[in-house]
Amino acid sequence: MTRFIFITGGVTSSLGKGLTSAALGALLQARGFKVRLRKLDPYLNVDPGTMSPYQHGEVYVTDDGAETDLDLGHYERFTGVPTRKTDNVTTGQIYSKVIAKERRGDYLGATVQVIPHVTDAIKEFIRADIGDEDFVICEIGGTVGDIEGLPYLEAIRQLGNELGPERSIFVHLTLVPYLAAAGELKTKPTQHSVKELQSVGIQPDIMVCRCDRPIPAEAQRKISLFCNVRPSAVIQALDVDTIYAVPRAYHEEGLDDEVCRHFGLTCPAPDLARWDSITERIRKPDGEVTIGVVGKYTSLLDSYKSLAEAMTHGGIANNVRVNVNWLDSEIFESDGAIQRLEDVHGILVPGGFGERGAEGKIAAARFARERKVPYFGICFGMQMAVIEAARNLAGIPGAGSTEFGPCEDSVVGLLTEWTAGNSIERRNVDDDYGGTMRLGAYPCTIEAGSRVHSIYGATEIDERHRHRYEVNINYRKVLENAGLHFSGLSPDGELPEIAELEDHPWYIGVQFHPELKSKPFEPHPLFTSFIEAAVAQSRLM
Ligand code: GLN
Repeated sequence: MTRFIFITGGVTSSLGKGLTSAALGALLQARGFKVRLRKLDPYLNVDPGTMSPYQHGEVYVTDDGAETDLDLGHYERFTGVPTRKTDNVTTGQIYSKVIAKERRGDYLGATVQVIPHVTDAIKEFIRADIGDEDFVICEIGGTVGDIEGLPYLEAIRQLGNELGPERSIFVHLTLVPYLAAAGELKTKPTQHSVKELQSVGIQPDIMVCRCDRPIPAEAQRKISLFCNVRPSAVIQALDVDTIYAVPRAYHEEGLDDEVCRHFGLTCPAPDLARWDSITERIRKPDGEVTIGVVGKYTSLLDSYKSLAEAMTHGGIANNVRVNVNWLDSEIFESDGAIQRLEDVHGILVPGGFGERGAEGKIAAARFARERKVPYFGICFGMQMAVIEAARNLAGIPGAGSTEFGPCEDSVVGLLTEWTAGNSIERRNVDDDYGGTMRLGAYPCTIEAGSRVHSIYGATEIDERHRHRYEVNINYRKVLENAGLHFSGLSPDGELPEIAELEDHPWYIGVQFHPELKSKPFEPHPLFTSFIEAAVAQSRLM
């Protein structure tokens, strides 16, 4: 029997609903339950793929090729359950579906309305594609009171009614702010938020209250009384020093106990040894390294969420703290700035789009190559490293990417046809912008004996992609002769997936996004190896 946990948020955004959902998932999993997590996003975009990273942060890509909300990254990192297309829905998708049905005549002449047609479509999404999961945790994006969120609240209210309390529970996350002038924590915003929820017919069963200091018993009693939840269901959620301490912290406050009590489940306490050892390693590292990340969206670090986590995981594997210098690549386009890379133990150029700052990334790749600093190029970072090697090693001065317009030697170019499994996928230059990249998991064949072979310990891997352009295989020979080796290719040998520089301590570019699959309890081998190389570099400096 699958039970549904609905998580809403109140008072303000950025309270960490995604993390709360992920941590609750991890706790239930640690009690032996099978979980799935889902995100319902009330915005009108069909997916976040077309949104600027400044607006939305990272776009998280699933194995089956969906461009989704970054919270799905938290879900995977905390539970290890691979997310799917069916785990993230937006108002854009819901309406597209409803309108397509209307056009087909499926509504048999009915007036199509938010209730019941849109709410039905939302309920269908929530219940679709579920197997033998014990729990499906559904996070509702946005904040209670948002106009866009209303159909979702109505849908989960209806579903709560249909399923009954034995199969559904409502968890509400709020903020209990400290007011310096009054010298106390204030519960009023929480009370108002719950009133708002109650006005749409939802009575939360559990209140999770974010706070920067312990909530006094009196304030907890107030929340219980005014929000109509039992005292034990008022869970304080104090700030913690690392996100991987959140499952333990919530357990100590009784969150998972309360969920089990609600459903009448008697089960042993969760085994949190995995989480304790991760936090222990994060809190007591055996040294530190500094990585320079040369990117474009460095003013909004949510744009690099999975990347930052994957570096932390690489640190956990090597027992070191990873400090990150987030550097805007544009600075490396002016003279002298490259010196800012002198102190770092590794350089990472992450994924990116567009011409702005590209030359700065190429300069960073050159610095890493010439100064023998470990270099990790991811997607755009691999493309820029290949262009750098083409220009400065292989003697192709006009090497560039057609992403920036026509160029003399398109070492990186738009691919309009490729194989995906047994079929061929095609794209046109004037196709829609949304959802038309090479997306999702693709296999890659690794050359035996290469550095990446020893890193992965395998010759067949699959990794997730999100890009429109590819390194042009026709330049393979000239680049390999110059020392840049293509040690990973698509199984048909047409698409360069991994490039590594010979005669360098650690210089690897990958066309895919390994950061998306890294987990704290299963650090991605490329990140483990990169951080290991940075540790070695730090000993030389
Ligand atoms: N802009 C490049 C492309 O579309 C790289 C994309 C990325 O780094 N994710 O191919």
